[in-house]
Amino acid sequence: MAEKEEFKGAVGTNYFETDPLVRGLVCGALPDDRRETVMEELSAFGAACGGELASLITTAHRDENKPKIDGNRVVYCAEQVQARRKAMDLGLLPPVPLVERMTKAYLLNQNGEGGITCPLAMTDGLVALLESHGSADQKKRYLPLLRDSSVDTPLTAGQFVTEKQGGSNVSENETRAVQQADGSWRLTGLKWFCSNPGDLWVTTAKPEGSEIVGLFLVPRLKPDGSPNTHKLLDLKNLSGTYGKATAEIEYEGTYAESIGRPSHGLAILLGSVLKTSRIHVAAASLGFGRRALVEATTWGRERIVLKRPIHDIPHVRSKLDAMKDRQEGATMAVFRMFFAVEAKDPSADVLIPLLKIGVSRDASRQVRDARLLFAGNAVDRDFSILPRLSEDALIQEIWEGTHPILAGQALKALRRQRSRDAFLAILPDAIADLLSDRLGDFSDDESVSVCIHAYESLKTSLLRSRESIPG
Ligand SMILES: Cc1cc2nc3c(=O)[nH]c(=O)nc-3n(C[C@H](O)[C@H](O)[C@H](O)COP(=O)(O)OP(=O)(O)OC[C@H]3O[C@@H](n4cnc5c(N)ncnc54)[C@H](O)[C@@H]3O)c2cc1C
Repeated sequence: MAEKEEFKGAVGTNYFETDPLVRGLVCGALPDDRRETVMEELSAFGAACGGELASLITTAHRDENKPKIDGNRVVYCAEQVQARRKAMDLGLLPPVPLVERMTKAYLLNQNGEGGITCPLAMTDGLVALLESHGSADQKKRYLPLLRDSSVDTPLTAGQFVTEKQGGSNVSENETRAVQQADGSWRLTGLKWFCSNPGDLWVTTAKPEGSEIVGLFLVPRLKPDGSPNTHKLLDLKNLSGTYGKATAEIEYEGTYAESIGRPSHGLAILLGSVLKTSRIHVAAASLGFGRRALVEATTWGRERIVLKRPIHDIPHVRSKLDAMKDRQEGATMAVFRMFFAVEAKDPSADVLIPLLKIGVSRDASRQVRDARLLFAGNAVDRDFSILPRLSEDALIQEIWEGTHPILAGQALKALRRQRSRDAFLAILPDAIADLLSDRLGDFSDDESVSVCIHAYESLKTSLLRSRESIPG
């Protein structure tokens, strides 16, 4: 390898066709009458990810192409907009069935977050929220906007909850909402992490005189077409996921509409918006882990040391084998979760928070292991995707809830009989007994390690059926 430009890794390949385990899992789950069509669609999507989208995303992440604020709007480079539009036009939102669109999200994330998949997660979440809790009028006005790939910034939705004093404990939000005579609301306060500020977002605020957190829709333009009164403050100088913008936003009597019953704000946020985002975190992290594995495997074949490829060195071989095992276990677990969500199986209540912890943690480990094999070249941003993937992987561990917060939610779900029974049925007896005997016993300190233990056991258990999957 004389020239650094020579290392291409996965770029130029079809991410779906080169992934027999995922092909086998998806193929086995599709109904007979749709199998051929969907497999062809996913193949076309995998080709786009390794081809045009990989190239657009790489260009969009050059320093000079980062998003900027112009007036009160974010402006993206042409390649970023084109990448979003191209991906969106290949079918990323409902009514595309969940397993198909999450498979696409997984493939897309093999190019890193890319400035696309955070906006995708939030747009998917807002579509779910509108469909489940929006009024007929809100659905009519806002669903077409979210599904429109021709707007200036496709995948245009946001979800702005976190405030300066902290994101984990939403009940501490200080933003206030005051209802108007016409039923609309005006918001005052500061949101601290606002990713992808676009045409519409969902936000949290406490109605005047109440300590209960309510949910509100905020459009960039008010119903009469005039600009809303929020102020976009500085863009954050992010290390990671910098293809999309993250800003602070100040509400100054900002127009808003309530969605769902105000007293149920937190429950709706968790059950609809954050649930969707956390499924996306698992898809994203699985994609990062897969890309790290492909880069490491390719590097192992191509990097020559002492006249032989490094994958012939025993410790490199065993590192690559461990990465492959970790990835296969995570893949089995994530697709099990997708299938459970689609089937409305109660095990999903446990699997979603558990995998948010486990798979995002695995992705960071996969990328780190790959970087150690790349050694010096691992830290050159122009050599491979790994530095960007590494930063993006850490963010998946943080946003949409840190590990202790998610562990608390996984254990809470495990205390509900239906969810517990459905989840424990997947696990080997030993860990199932430990969990069912000691539920309620775990301190906060223990809860993350208990969840990681349960996740590792889940992977081991699911891997037993690996051989039965075609491909
Ligand atoms: C790139 C990026 C983009 C983001 N975009 C958005 C966005 O668009 N919208 C949005 O709303 N948010 C966004 N966030 C914010 C993100 O969701 C929060 O960072 C996250 O929820 C954690 O909140 P915090 O950073 O305020 O940490 P804190 O809540 O201050 O937590 C600090 C530490 O304390 C621990 N901790 C806190 N509470 C508890 C508890 N009860 N039990 C145990 N441990 C606890 C946490 O695990 C963490 O380690 C974004 C974050 C990043 C990094």
